[in-house]
Amino acid sequence: MALNQSGWRPEMSSDGRATASTSTGNKALMLEEALIFEIGDSDTTGVDFDFPGAPANAGAPGSEGGARGPGFLRSQEHKLGSLARTAPIGLPGLSEPETVRHYTRLSRQNYGIDLGFFPLGSCTMKHNPRLNEKMARLPGFADVHPLQPVDTVQGALDVINQLAVWLIKLTGMHGVAMTPKAGAHGELCGILCIKAALEARGEGHRKVILVPESAHGTNPATAAFAGYTVEDIPATPEGRVDTAALKARLGPDVAGVMITNPNTCGLFERDMKAISDAVHAAGGYVYCDGANFNAIVGRVRPGDLGIDAMHINLHKTFSTPHGGGGPGSGPVVLSEALSPYGPLPFTERFADGHITLVEEETVGDRHPRSFGRMSAFHGQMGMFTRALTYILSHGADGLRQVAEDAVLNANYVLRSLDDTLDAPFGGSGPCMHEALFSDAGLADGFSTIDIAKGLIDEGFHPMTMYFPLVVHGAMLIEPTETESKAALDQFIAALRSVAERAKAGDRALKSAPHFAPRSRLDETLAARKPLLVWKEAVPVAEAAE
Ligand SMILES: *Cc1c(COP(=O)(O)O)cnc(C)c1O
Repeated sequence: MALNQSGWRPEMSSDGRATASTSTGNKALMLEEALIFEIGDSDTTGVDFDFPGAPANAGAPGSEGGARGPGFLRSQEHKLGSLARTAPIGLPGLSEPETVRHYTRLSRQNYGIDLGFFPLGSCTMKHNPRLNEKMARLPGFADVHPLQPVDTVQGALDVINQLAVWLIKLTGMHGVAMTPKAGAHGELCGILCIKAALEARGEGHRKVILVPESAHGTNPATAAFAGYTVEDIPATPEGRVDTAALKARLGPDVAGVMITNPNTCGLFERDMKAISDAVHAAGGYVYCDGANFNAIVGRVRPGDLGIDAMHINLHKTFSTPHGGGGPGSGPVVLSEALSPYGPLPFTERFADGHITLVEEETVGDRHPRSFGRMSAFHGQMGMFTRALTYILSHGADGLRQVAEDAVLNANYVLRSLDDTLDAPFGGSGPCMHEALFSDAGLADGFSTIDIAKGLIDEGFHPMTMYFPLVVHGAMLIEPTETESKAALDQFIAALRSVAERAKAGDRALKSAPHFAPRSRLDETLAARKPLLVWKEAVPVAEAAE
């Protein structure tokens, strides 16, 4: 075959599967790209700089002045004002077209929500409508500076204020702290409010926060960071908080509980109101991790469940996908009991429509009990603008439908696959926004990671793996409301075929992915000894000295 002679070699692996390698390592139009440090050099640049020359007081100008050319970036005498570089700059250089290609090629290896389905559970990776981006990029929002006088940013403050009002209405709470910059930051805000409220009551000695086993990892981390002792509350076999065990642990040393609802098993905590009543009766406060609000927005008001503080991830429920992709925003809604302790600054609208920023605890004695500041300024303007755009374009009825469709999609995935994969809480009734499976029933030696890697070959980003911890080999899938039935059917078919291979013990799955730019990594080595900084290879002769 002619193609063989020009370098393309079809190969058969031991299990009879055809694989292919090329002489270049490139695959189709995807180039095997080395690191920029390996392809660039310090003599190449896409820009012409004037040689800065010697400082005015350092002898005859003109001796170097105007000199320009290859090598100057490396120059030992390179000076900026009176400062001289003493070592090579060490930055790789490429020409402009090489640079553009390098980064464009890298970007093609990136996976994002705009490329395809992103089934990560506990993450709410949903489509971000382009309208949100258009609004967030309006210069009046995008270019405001946090130190501008408030009279010049009334529109931006109005966006923050309107969003705050929506969040309070949707949750049935009393107040909201807009400044926290992520879910975990919001948790810290809520726990600091609880701490301040307890101290104001003279009960700062309450040092225990109860956290159910199925909690998101950030919950115990937050409580510990705020100086509390974390105690686990077990889950029932149905995947919910063991209410009896929780009630039995309440007492004068308990500051509060942190409960995720809907929880990380994708189930609604039906006893929430009873739990809140019991915690309040015992003198504690109720923190709810509201990162999964997407499943209940417009349907359930956390304020009606007796919750004192709950963060909302604007970058989940209110559309912008997250995860290394940019800033998040985690406003915290607060009960009447906790609102006075919320952080500064916050917006306040006067009867004449003018909005001001309350920046100091003492202003007009209106907010003397704030625990202080979470961040330097008022929060994430771009996230606020996207979230308000999303809310206004959906309206209250549209938001309710978001929750209903998200839950419908998750149940569709759960019921389409529970004949092939083990669904540990499949008997607990419908799930909320996430479908949870375990690795029970896979062939000996096969685990969740093999299914995840197999999915990559089939064109799908893997689901969340090995979380929640209460389920062995957990696979947590959150389709969100933005996926169509056609997209879900494709995913279900792909997951079914990979799961069947894992059940049949197909060895080829153990080394998947085969078609990705990189195949299976040594995950343990990568986690334990990550190579994060490129180091120039030491020439052999030098290394031998
Ligand atoms: C995402 C998430 C968090 C943390 O939110 P970040 O914005 O990533 O800090 C906390 N709890 C749950 C249940 C989550 O899904």
